[in-house]
Amino acid sequence: VSLTISPLKDVEGNIIGLSKIARDITDRKQNEANKHDFVSMISHELKTPLTSLKTYMQVMQKKIEKQPEINEFIPVGLDKANRLVDKMVKLIHDFLDVSKIEAGKLSLNRIEFDLNELINEIIDDHVFLNTTHTITCQFHTEKLTVFADKEKITQVIINLLTNAIKYSPAGGNIIIATQKLNNKAFFSITDEGLGIDPIDQHQLFQRFFRCRRSKEKQISGFGIGLYLVSEILALHGSTIQVKSVVNKGSTFSFKLDCYAKSPGLHGLTKQSL
Ligand code: ADP
Repeated sequence: VSLTISPLKDVEGNIIGLSKIARDITDRKQNEANKHDFVSMISHELKTPLTSLKTYMQVMQKKIEKQPEINEFIPVGLDKANRLVDKMVKLIHDFLDVSKIEAGKLSLNRIEFDLNELINEIIDDHVFLNTTHTITCQFHTEKLTVFADKEKITQVIINLLTNAIKYSPAGGNIIIATQKLNNKAFFSITDEGLGIDPIDQHQLFQRFFRCRRSKEKQISGFGIGLYLVSEILALHGSTIQVKSVVNKGSTFSFKLDCYAKSPGLHGLTKQSL
């Protein structure tokens, strides 16, 4: 409780008593505690890759000083440094999107694109996906044209793929599949990882939620990836689904409407089957 005491005066300004105002500040204190947790989590998540980045930079600098010609460590070090920067930039984008969602300001910029092509681009382009896992794509044979926010769907797929890698053992199989079902583009990603306890499954898409087992195994994370996935899909009128068996693996899936431009018509219409 916060207590404010101030003098009570009559019309001539003489003090005739004291007024006491007591306010219940439990909520405010709780908000401050949440803010503090949030700030310390962000700081921790950024500090770890920044410290490694600094080490790589220092080692590269020393190697260059000792041996000015290109040596073996430089490309390796630069590659690692690049990945760490990518990781931090992704984290910052995710944080910014969380605050936009909270302010109701996350909006979509929809364009037409082929979902299969986007998955290929993601796998080819993203250096941070350097992994010993085998990623297999089982694509629907035709184009899967959707009308969606390409950048945000990229973020959804990257988050699901990063989790599949992070929460499954090195060398495991990851299958990305697409299909066309009832005029919807269907996406799924399956891993052979930790799996998710049924009691955790209904909380999985809440902000900051992390399963106990991943914390125990000290797998780093923040608990905002799946929250963003579900919020972005909700803006597209879609939902994220999960099927998982502990110690066997997990499948995350979602659907997007298929669209095609109809000749002679302005705008976009739903494709007929
Ligand atoms: P983060 O990975 O940063 O903790 P996410 O929101 O992406 O945050 O995931 C929330 C939690 O869900 C993770 O901490 C993990 O416990 C669990 N999880 C997510 N994806 C998987 C997966 N493919 N296999 C097992 N557990 C998962």
